[in-house]
Amino acid sequence: MIFGATGDLANRKLFPSLYNLYAKGQLDKFAVVGVARRSLTNEEFQLRVKESVTEHGEAAANLDEFVSKFYYHSHDVTDSSSYIALGKLAEELDENYRLDGNRIFYLAMAPEFFGTIAEHLKKDKLTNVTGFKRLVIEKPFGHDLESAKVLNKQIRTAFSEDEIYRIDHYLGKEMVQNIEVIRFANAMFEPLWNNRYISNIQVTSSETLGVEERGRYYEKSGALRDMVQNHMLQMVSLLAMEPPIKLTTDEIRSEKVRVFRALRPIIGEEVNDYFVRGQYGQGSMNEKEVPAYRQEEMVDPDSNTETFVAGKLMIDNFRWAGVPFYIRTGKRMKAKSTKIVIQFKDIPMDLYYQREQTVNPNLLVIHIQPEEGITLHLNAKKSGQGTEATPVKLNYANKGIDGLNTPEAYEKLLYDSLRGDATNFTHWDEVALSWSFVDNISAVWENTNEHSFPNYESGSMGPEAADKLLKNDGFFWWPVTEIDVDNC
Ligand code: NAD
Repeated sequence: MIFGATGDLANRKLFPSLYNLYAKGQLDKFAVVGVARRSLTNEEFQLRVKESVTEHGEAAANLDEFVSKFYYHSHDVTDSSSYIALGKLAEELDENYRLDGNRIFYLAMAPEFFGTIAEHLKKDKLTNVTGFKRLVIEKPFGHDLESAKVLNKQIRTAFSEDEIYRIDHYLGKEMVQNIEVIRFANAMFEPLWNNRYISNIQVTSSETLGVEERGRYYEKSGALRDMVQNHMLQMVSLLAMEPPIKLTTDEIRSEKVRVFRALRPIIGEEVNDYFVRGQYGQGSMNEKEVPAYRQEEMVDPDSNTETFVAGKLMIDNFRWAGVPFYIRTGKRMKAKSTKIVIQFKDIPMDLYYQREQTVNPNLLVIHIQPEEGITLHLNAKKSGQGTEATPVKLNYANKGIDGLNTPEAYEKLLYDSLRGDATNFTHWDEVALSWSFVDNISAVWENTNEHSFPNYESGSMGPEAADKLLKNDGFFWWPVTEIDVDNC
């Protein structure tokens, strides 16, 4: 059942991804009930699904057969009688399609409805099934720890923790999933993956887009809640976790949770030492003038909302003591790019010191998006006479798929939820610990106006203070635009 079946997410991502799974033979016995407010007949709904797949996916001859399994139920999510009718339809389909009483409820709706829907599903007996029942929910999961707890309590009335699939789109990305493989399947990395050999790790996720039409939502969220609490901290946990004893959902999640537990809390005045906030001013993107955040639609002209965050995270355990993890994310930045740079420590004695060019540190760069791949920065002999060292790059480029939230990423996440593999979804413990980390920072930022806003020009890499954050430790941000996989 897809709640919010006439919405943008269902139309652009979910229907094409389901079709891709079907076309690959990965969806066998199934039926889909689309649930939304608008009144539509099954035929009208099937036509919309067909159009969605044709427009956003790769339609083939079996499309008619695929859409024939789609049904529509017009429904107000707050109305009990409507759930009873929905339950009846589900029972009929269960029988006609021999679905063994298995149900997945996908909530592609505004988060304020998540709790109500879950409570109704329980109360109106839609969760009384003979097979499995699963709940898939979109972000954001709450606004802070308190609201996340309330929401979690509501959905836990109807679903147990292992039946809840909280989506984090980054976890559906090929190269994010690859972090574990790179680390745990290569003898040359894992022995070096600690504070003896790594000097710092930098995670950047920059967007070129501004807030667009999401002003109303973004004003209440900001980059810290929208990006750091979930995506950025998830990437850090995958980079920092201990090798799990097995590649099972529980083992991997419990290692990730340990990272969150070891994350040093940043409280009160410390926030200014460890974190930098920014808000974009006007500027030029692709030779086009763009407005400041405060001039965007539905945005307060004196807004204190951050559109950029840079931070230094410390993980207080044996492996990572003393190694800063720098994170940086923002809107209207110079390039659209998600990259991880692992900077290795300098060799103990630099024999090439004071030569023509000093030796660069070794870097392992994981390119998450838009291009996907890995680059290893090494030093080798400059060809010709002499013994000068010169930087060389070893490069692996995956076939790039532009953008997160692509049908491909959704396809993987949907497939996992069908198979019952929750590894790439966030566990409540991760959500709770990351909110409590982030809440300490928002507590300070919300109570103090940042008078320097807007403090970075659109089309730049963020405020100067973000560079200072690293400079104070003797580091600098490796430029994400110049270490593109394509340029190597
Ligand atoms: P949307 O506004 O386009 O669609 C909302 C859907 O909810 C519609 O089908 C509407 O009919 C239905 N709806 C609203 N109120 C209802 C009610 N009272 N009863 C029954 N149905 C009701 O939203 P969207 O862009 O599809 O986003 C849905 C969710 O997915 C949000 O949580 C959003 O944050 C998340 N999300 C969306 C995208 C995206 O690409 N659109 C990406 C990531 C996450």
